[in-house]
Amino acid sequence: MIYSVWLFALSLLFMVLERLWPRARQPILRRGIWSDLAYLIFNSEYLGVLLGAVSIHVVAWLDRTLDLVHLRDAFYLGVMSNRSFPVQFVVLLLAFDFTQWGIHNLLHRVPVLWQFHKVHHSIEDMDWIGNWRFHWMEVAVYRVLLYPPAAFFGFTAEAMFAYGVFNTLIGHFAHSNLRVRVGVLKYIVNSPEVHIWHHTHPDAGPVNRNFGIALSVWDWLFRTAYAPEGEDPVRLGFTGIETYPRQLPGQVVAPFLGRQSI
Ligand SMILES: [Zn+2]
Ligand SMILES: [Zn+2]
Repeated sequence: MIYSVWLFALSLLFMVLERLWPRARQPILRRGIWSDLAYLIFNSEYLGVLLGAVSIHVVAWLDRTLDLVHLRDAFYLGVMSNRSFPVQFVVLLLAFDFTQWGIHNLLHRVPVLWQFHKVHHSIEDMDWIGNWRFHWMEVAVYRVLLYPPAAFFGFTAEAMFAYGVFNTLIGHFAHSNLRVRVGVLKYIVNSPEVHIWHHTHPDAGPVNRNFGIALSVWDWLFRTAYAPEGEDPVRLGFTGIETYPRQLPGQVVAPFLGRQSI
């Protein structure tokens, strides 16, 4: 089944679930919904194609450089390429999710990267579609920094596809406007009760917590977790969000205009 079908099915599922068990009452056509729909379509369907076209040239240059210094075989070790699908999936999930946890930390702690990541944190009404509100530069940063582990492990396309679908499922779930408690699973898998605190406004709770993408376990291990039982932040966003652009075009150009509020 192609990715678009999985994405459509998962989106429909969470749209229905949010109507049945909402955390906060908000209309389907909430503020910013049309921008988020545009983010969903562009980031899920076209961004990969555009970055893929650029990647071909960047990877060709990298391979030529590696050839020159006789390090190509050492770089593309592909230690997982002959392993079974379940083994690949588990190693891929752990290796990539941990790397992404580190990259997400950088997006918050390096000022120039934070300007791009602010697009995702401009969400004030949380729901599943917010999972797709992010700047294309952020994806470029993730791709570049994930390339070395991808070359080292050499996962098959089948494992990568399954990982992509799993990430979409957990991403939708963690951002969903759902009143659910997952019990002890909150220490392992990302969930709405944990991820909502990642989006808290500085006036409503501690910032720079809960960096987990699909797994939350890294935050509990490295003491960056925050998820008080039975509580939700009263406000989402960041300092200065009142003057931040509300629609996609303004948000996409904002990081390039030197807006430095944090
Ligand atoms: Zn973040
Ligand atoms: Zn988020």
